[in-house]
Amino acid sequence: MPKPMNVLVTGGAGYIGSHTCKLLAGAGYIPVAFDNLSFGHEWAVKWGPFVSGDLSDVDFVRNTLREHEIGAVIHFAANAYVGESMENPRKYFRNNAANSLNLLEAMLDAEVKTLVFSSTCATYGIPETIPIPDDHPQRPANPYGETKLFVERAIHWYAGAYGLRWAAPRYFNASGADPDGEIGEDHDPETHLIPIIIEAALGKRPHIEIFGTDYGTPDGTAVRDYVHVTDLGDAHLGALNYLLEGGENLAFNLGTGQGHSVREVIGSVERVSGREVPRREGPRRPGDPPSLVADARRAEAVLGWHPRFPDLDVIVETAWRWHESQEKPE
Ligand code: UDP
Repeated sequence: MPKPMNVLVTGGAGYIGSHTCKLLAGAGYIPVAFDNLSFGHEWAVKWGPFVSGDLSDVDFVRNTLREHEIGAVIHFAANAYVGESMENPRKYFRNNAANSLNLLEAMLDAEVKTLVFSSTCATYGIPETIPIPDDHPQRPANPYGETKLFVERAIHWYAGAYGLRWAAPRYFNASGADPDGEIGEDHDPETHLIPIIIEAALGKRPHIEIFGTDYGTPDGTAVRDYVHVTDLGDAHLGALNYLLEGGENLAFNLGTGQGHSVREVIGSVERVSGREVPRREGPRRPGDPPSLVADARRAEAVLGWHPRFPDLDVIVETAWRWHESQEKPE
């Protein structure tokens, strides 16, 4: 039997990274989780070695790649709050842009040439068409999207010059939790809609505030494409296999193609939990587009990817079970 490949997963102790590690291990890879634990949790590293480190230290990253005999990298580690990126762009250019260049530097030195890079629909900016096609123009409207696009452009040019091989999934709203309940979303502070609504349903918050009720959407609240974190993990695994089998470099959207309004998501949590969710209506959150929905045709056509959990109530149910399980003592 050939030796399993070691895959470095930056941000492997984080939300999407840890779910992807589980899927990598299930597919016979050894995920090596590299994380500075600024957002990640050591308890979420269950499927391979943990390396505590920071991408700002290029020597350490290079040594890690060599010591662990890494064959490919999946790069999740990043700051990902749009609002914060507007107020503190230097943090985003340093942690997302400069640190990604460090990772690329170390990869080239260690001759690791295969990269799956977590990108985002925020690279598109305000969409011209909904659903957003894979080849939509990229004009980011905030530093978060700008830094992600910067890395996409860097890997494009590095591919031509240094033979780097890459895939860049651009995802929409990551949501839900491991269907087996082993891991889930745990951010501090939490800013994402589904966990906040769940916390309101559990009485851990007084209410959910709806950010804007005057959008030009059917019920006036903002519409997003919520895609299950395990489906995102599947796509990363699929992209890695595709590259290792010789596939062309590729950027692609990841979403279900179904948009849901804030009110619909609240309705879903109420159905799933059987509880009433206290809510308040507030102003729009600056920088929020009215509607973001993916056209994920390329992922389907090239990778054969289909979301296993496209239904909003199923997504919410996995998240609900995870949050409820965190309520009880171990
Ligand atoms: N949202 C909201 N109340 C909250 C948090 C989020 O109404 O407390 C809305 C937000 O304005 C957006 C949607 O829910 O339209 C999803 O927000 P989230 O922060 O989860 O993801 P984003 O789309 O910003 O990446």
